[in-house]
Amino acid sequence: MPGTRTTIELPVGRLYTHTPMTIPVHVVKGKKTGPRLFISAAIHGDEINGVEIIRRLLNLPVLKRLTGTIIAVPIVNVHGLINQSRYLPDRRDLNRSFPGTEKGSLAARLANLFMQEIVSQSTHGIDIHTGAIHRDNLPQVRANLDDEQTEKLARAFDVPVIISSNLRDGSLRESAAEYGIPMLLYEAGEALRFDEVSIRAGVKGIINVMRTLEMLPPTRRKSKKHIEPVVARSSSWVRAPDSGILRTMVPLGCRVKKDTLLGIVSDPFGEKETNITSSYSGIVIGRTNLPLVNEGDALFNIARFEDVLDAANKVDEFHEQHAPELKIPPNAESPII
Ligand SMILES: [Zn+2]
Repeated sequence: MPGTRTTIELPVGRLYTHTPMTIPVHVVKGKKTGPRLFISAAIHGDEINGVEIIRRLLNLPVLKRLTGTIIAVPIVNVHGLINQSRYLPDRRDLNRSFPGTEKGSLAARLANLFMQEIVSQSTHGIDIHTGAIHRDNLPQVRANLDDEQTEKLARAFDVPVIISSNLRDGSLRESAAEYGIPMLLYEAGEALRFDEVSIRAGVKGIINVMRTLEMLPPTRRKSKKHIEPVVARSSSWVRAPDSGILRTMVPLGCRVKKDTLLGIVSDPFGEKETNITSSYSGIVIGRTNLPLVNEGDALFNIARFEDVLDAANKVDEFHEQHAPELKIPPNAESPII
């Protein structure tokens, strides 16, 4: 029915307690038909920023003017979320199990259900992730920029950094691409934590994409300047040269040059200290928050850009735009700080 909201419970395998289990799906139908956008979060069960992004999005009054349909799935990996774990109880990674099969592993069955019930019913998709546990990501969109429509949506999202990334085997993005559905991955913050800037930027980004798809009318308010995003040419992790206690010297979003000191690993006595430096210039787009490191652990993810200074300026501008105000206007979402 046009102009309605429905919550659907997609049945999945019972828990071994005999308790029935479902994936909750919220469908918002606009008065007019149009694109059908799925928005999913917590495919990795401990990545919860997206759960809050979807909750805020569904409460926005502007949705009264929706054209088309939103299919919101705030918790895809319900088993993982209950266990506060990235994985499923069978220790599989759901985002490496797409498109899945009806009779395969639990992960394969969930992936198959998601493809049949959500992706195949949609024309576009946004999947929300965060860094892994103890790892923080600068808000960024990952998308296949070789596809023109996907690129247009990625640029509309309005985060400073786009990673033009290859499709990973078994990922939802790869399977959605096979259905010909343009899909963005929004990646921001850390597992098991809420991050206000990441959440705000996520809600705004989805609204911007919906305006671009003409699912929402253009904004009447004079909006703040659109940040033309910069596309990273590539990114790679700087790993711990040694095991020990890490002191981190650079925040997320920091511009680094070749040989910039990123952090120091030392033994607990401070007798042996090993400097960790960047081997090229770029921006820190991912970082560990856990000072306890083993040799080989991924510590800093540095993205390379054609123009690093331009990228750094855009990151600063972005943080200024999304920083929570101390005075909260009435009826606004109180910032999570
Ligand atoms: Zn993830």
